[in-house]
Amino acid sequence: MEKILMIKYGELTTKKGNRNLFVDTLYNNIVKKLDGLNYTIKKYRSRMYIISDNIKKIIEKLEEVFGIYEIDIVYKLDNKDIETIKNSIIEIYKDHDFKTFKVKTKRADKNYEIDSMEISRILGEELLKKYSDLKVNVKNPDKVINLEIREEGVFIYYDKVKGLGGYPVGIQDRALAMISGGIDSPVAIYLALKKGIHVDCIYFDSPPHTSIDALNKVKKLIKILKKYDSDIKLYVVNFSNAQEEIYAHKANSYMITLMRRMMYRVACTFAGEIGYSAVITGESIGQVASQTLPSLSVINEVTNVPVIRPVACLDKIEIMDIARKIGTYETSILPYEDCCTIFLPKHPVINPKLYITEQIENRFDCFKLTVNTLNNIKEESLEEKSVL
Ligand code: ATP
Ligand code: MG
Repeated sequence: MEKILMIKYGELTTKKGNRNLFVDTLYNNIVKKLDGLNYTIKKYRSRMYIISDNIKKIIEKLEEVFGIYEIDIVYKLDNKDIETIKNSIIEIYKDHDFKTFKVKTKRADKNYEIDSMEISRILGEELLKKYSDLKVNVKNPDKVINLEIREEGVFIYYDKVKGLGGYPVGIQDRALAMISGGIDSPVAIYLALKKGIHVDCIYFDSPPHTSIDALNKVKKLIKILKKYDSDIKLYVVNFSNAQEEIYAHKANSYMITLMRRMMYRVACTFAGEIGYSAVITGESIGQVASQTLPSLSVINEVTNVPVIRPVACLDKIEIMDIARKIGTYETSILPYEDCCTIFLPKHPVINPKLYITEQIENRFDCFKLTVNTLNNIKEESLEEKSVL
């Protein structure tokens, strides 16, 4: 008897109207993820099945696919006859290492002639008859033998692995994520991907104020995130002129506020041009001066696409836990400075006023600076130029 994988979709089942789109997107993502491996896959409305001689490797890959709720390792019987099921159960549990058990049957195929209680009873009896050391314990058994009768066959559960959950990437419109090389933005991107949003990234680079290592760090983070969405692109903005110009106009404690408004103007305009429906950032409320609610409000004033802040209400500790889980943490804590830190004022304003911000911006041609910066955006290859 062969063990195969049964994939459950979880949250997808709640989206009845969109079911086909969900299942098809998930199917395509799985096929892409398993590229190069030897397997066959079958797709049904509420389950997919994978047959392979290397299910361990397949599970490892599937654990990185959003939209999968659970991966079950199951024995599949094509013959649904009760005698066949009995014989199979006896065979599967011939080397059992448990003393008490119960059989739990789910009958998804309502045309099956025996009901679930009766199936469980018949199989329980058969096991007791065959293996005299076994006992039934309904309340607290050592082993629950799960069984599912479906139209496409009978499935006897062997083991299960939890999936990532969420929605398959690509089910939503695309978004542009502002990535900075810190801990927060890669986590924000991961959470956006989990909601099915395909994300491309934009990084504001300030050579020579920032080193090539800072850019390489961002590339490395994106490569890690590509586990969850292999199509992530990186756009790099040369932000040096904009930063120098703002700095030259003595923004002082408002430096960060102005710089971030400029970043948002550029990111939102670019998002609109290319066709991204939202901008994603790693801002978290109260974490630094530029992320107090008054700061976020003044900064947000220049945006014209929805800004999604997936980690807005998470504690740093919670964000760090996710970063460790997804494998970005160790790279994020490498010490290369991003462009914000170079021009950081000693005492950044925590309660900026919009009218003061605009007064400072009136000292220079903000529109021209935005256009010039927009002309300095390049799609970057994700190869590192030097080793970190
Ligand atoms: P992170 O840990 O992601 O660097 P942070 O706590 O250091 O975040 P900030 O540096 O204030 O916070 O940045 C807040 C958010 O603004 C970042 O999460 C990112 O989305 C965006 N951001 C900051 N700097 C850049 C940059 N150089 N390029 C692109 N986006 C940036
Ligand atoms: Mg940062």
